[in-house]
Amino acid sequence: MTLVLFSAPDSVWDEYRDVLPRAIARAGVEARIIRDDALTDPTEVDYIVYAPSSRLKDFTPFTRLKAVLNLWAGVEAIAPNPTLKAPLARMVDYGLTEGMVEWCVGHTLRHHLGMDQDIRRNDAEWHPHVPPLARWRNITVLGLGALGEAVARALVDLNFRVTGWSRRQKDIGGICCLSGDDGLREALSSAEILILLLPLTDNTRDLMDRNRLALLPKGACVINPGRGPLIVDEDLIDALDSGQIAHATLDVFRTEPLPPEHPFWAHDGVTVTPHIASDTRPQSAADVVAENLRRGETGEPFLHLVDRSAGY
Ligand code: NDP
Repeated sequence: MTLVLFSAPDSVWDEYRDVLPRAIARAGVEARIIRDDALTDPTEVDYIVYAPSSRLKDFTPFTRLKAVLNLWAGVEAIAPNPTLKAPLARMVDYGLTEGMVEWCVGHTLRHHLGMDQDIRRNDAEWHPHVPPLARWRNITVLGLGALGEAVARALVDLNFRVTGWSRRQKDIGGICCLSGDDGLREALSSAEILILLLPLTDNTRDLMDRNRLALLPKGACVINPGRGPLIVDEDLIDALDSGQIAHATLDVFRTEPLPPEHPFWAHDGVTVTPHIASDTRPQSAADVVAENLRRGETGEPFLHLVDRSAGY
C-alpha cells in the first residue's frame, strides 16, 4: 500500500483529516496516511504532502520518495533544498485562483474608484469625485502564471487596460504581454495600479527597488500579494513619503507576522493584510493532492511540477 507522510503542524492536519482520505479514495488510490510523529522508517515513505510550516527539512532519509506535494503555491522555502531529489509539485487549484482574483479585484477597485476618500471622510462636506472609467485606467500585473493570468483576465473583463509581464513572452488575448528588461520598464511606466504576482526567486528578490518604483507614474498604487522581498521596504516608504506612490496594499512581508514596530503599520499610505490574499482551501486542494498521487501510482506525469532550476 502507498505510504503518504502528511508533514504539517496539527492545525493544518485538522483541516485535511477528513477531506484528504475521502479525496484519495475518490481518486482510486489505496494509501495509508501517517503524521510526522508516527514516522518510524523514512525509507518506506512514497509521497510527502508538505506544508511550508513543516519541521521536516532533511529529505535525505526518504530514499523511496516519489514526489513531494506542496500544499502552497509558493515554493521558495523548499525549492532550493539540496536534500530533496524527488520531483516537487506545488498547489494550483480553483480555490487559490478564485480567492486571489477576488482579493486583487477588490483592492484594485478600491484604488481605482478612490473609495478611501468616501470611507475615511465624515466631515459633512460634499466632495464630488468622479473616477475614470476602467477603460481609461492602466493596470500592470507582474507575473502571468496561474494566479497573475487569472487576475489579469478578470481585470480585462472589467474593461481595464491591462499589461502583463512574465519571464517568457506570452500571448494572451486582451492583455499587452511583455517580457525582458525593456518589457519591465514599459510595463512599469504605464502602471497606475501595479499588482505583484511573481514568485520569490533569486531573479525577483528586491525587483521593486527605488529605481523601478521611480518608473511608475507619479501617484501610482502598488498591490503586493506575491512575496514581501519582491519590494525593498525602505525604498517603498521613501516613495510613499515623496508622493511617488500614493498607496501600497501589502499582504506579504519579509518577516511574517509583520513585527509591531515595522513602519508599514503606522504609515497612512499603507494597508496591511495578514497574508490572506488567497489561502489553500482543503476542499479543493485535497483533490489536487489525490490526483497527483493517482498520477504517481499510474506512471502519468505529475501536475504542477516546479522547475527547480528556475526556482518556481
Ligand atoms: P506561477 O509559477 O504560476 O507564475 C509565476 C509567474 O511569474 C509566471 O508568469 C512567470 O513567468 C513569472 N516569473 C517568474 N520569474 C520571473 C522573472 N524572473 N521575470 C519575469 N517573470 C517571472 O505562480 P502563481 O501564479 O501560482 O503564484 C505566484 C506567486 O503568488 C506565488 O509564487 C506566491 O509567492 C504568491 N502567492 C501568494 C498568496 C497569498 O495569499 N498572498 C497565495 C498564493 C500564491 P513564466 O510564465 O514565463 O514562467
